[in-house]
Amino acid sequence: MARYTVAIVGAGPAGYFAAQALQNMQSDELTFSIDIFERLPTPWGLVRSGVAPDHPKIKTVSKVFEKVATAGNVRLFANVELGSDISLQDLKVAYDAVVIATGSSIGKKLGIPGEDLPGSISAATFVPWYNAHPDFKDESVDLSTSTAIVIGAGNVAMDVARMLALEPTELDPTDTADHAIDVFKESAVRTVIISARRGAEHAAFTSPELRELPKLEHTNVIIEKSDIAAALIRAGENIEKDVKSNLEAMALIADQVPAGHERTMKFQFLATPKEIRGRDKVEEVIFTKTGTDEEFSIKCGLVITAIGYEATLLEGVDFEQGKVKNTDGRVGENLYVVGWAKRGPSGVIGTNKSDSSDVMKLLVEDLNNPKPHSDIADRLNSALVITQSQWETINAAEVAAGESKGKPRHKAVAWDDLLHLGGL
Ligand code: NAP
Repeated sequence: MARYTVAIVGAGPAGYFAAQALQNMQSDELTFSIDIFERLPTPWGLVRSGVAPDHPKIKTVSKVFEKVATAGNVRLFANVELGSDISLQDLKVAYDAVVIATGSSIGKKLGIPGEDLPGSISAATFVPWYNAHPDFKDESVDLSTSTAIVIGAGNVAMDVARMLALEPTELDPTDTADHAIDVFKESAVRTVIISARRGAEHAAFTSPELRELPKLEHTNVIIEKSDIAAALIRAGENIEKDVKSNLEAMALIADQVPAGHERTMKFQFLATPKEIRGRDKVEEVIFTKTGTDEEFSIKCGLVITAIGYEATLLEGVDFEQGKVKNTDGRVGENLYVVGWAKRGPSGVIGTNKSDSSDVMKLLVEDLNNPKPHSDIADRLNSALVITQSQWETINAAEVAAGESKGKPRHKAVAWDDLLHLGGL
């Protein structure tokens, strides 16, 4: 029987699905010891700090991660940073294979004038801020404007727009960070414009997300009928199934009679952002009608860009186009990549299951004789590591703290508070 050691860097969905795939390939002849390393004191990646708090069902996939984590052959080393606490080279020497699953957390830039004005932020900041990510707890998010523009036509833009346009008391029974709920409750934002540079037929939203919009109880959702009619004409007869379903969902919204709520979420299509203007902070966005020179301006005090992400660089790893350079997940000798770091920021959480599984099959194909065992845990300062059982203590404390408040959990936000809950 051969027992191989595998290090997975990043305790997000792609990392857990990679571990699960390895577990599923075990047999009488082949077994794995899997160590998952995570920079934060908490695992679950985007399921904890990306998924919108008003989408609790999506977060139930964390049960799968916990099953993987407690199956007996997986250890968690959280609060351990690659590069400072341990190097990639250390891992490559100590393990039979190393899997990078570090995602993509850097927001892409529009590259237009005014983008760095106060009041212009990336979803890569706004989303982890409202989700209690410890690195973003001190961001100052100013919602003192009546109009916000969200640039991008994907599900992240939709999450951001919804969070801005919900009646804030709707967030009370969610795990939104307290600091964010306080700011949302003081928010002056009443109109949120989701702005797409192309037509509705090219929007990257998925239709389940669109279909839930008419169910919002306190927010008007407005799509112009003419935008959908024009999109249907452009899409033609051989329209793809997903596009058809999206346009049908948008047509249902367009057909709604506005309900007269205080808050409005409005879709704008074929608008290319050209410049963000303002003296000391954002005051307006200049757009061109896509495909023309015709300019128009919308006054607003907040711009949030949700136009995709790039991977954070890792020492000793080549990157191209915001991703780890790889061939089908193979990076180099005993080094692999999965998830958004591999393929870019695309797909839903479940997409990572088949993706990670495909890469782990290649990893198994490449295995030679197991290396002599050298336990990396011996080299880490155990007083600074959050293990699976310590994470379980944090998790239980957060869930218990949420119970009395009617929330699924009440997240600790400060890094020290998380470590303290974990007994460090
Ligand atoms: P995305 O789906 O790729 O959407 C990015 C959007 O940004 C596109 O509409 C794109 O327009 C636009 N864009 C890119 N560059 C631009 C520019 N320079 N100027 C203006 N617009 C620009 O990315 P995402 O929204 O970040 O989502 C990432 C992945 O996570 C997606 O697969 C998404 O479905 C998934 N996700 C899922 C959920 C959910 O299931 N509820 C929630 C959040 C995220 P073009 O098409 O014109 O390039």
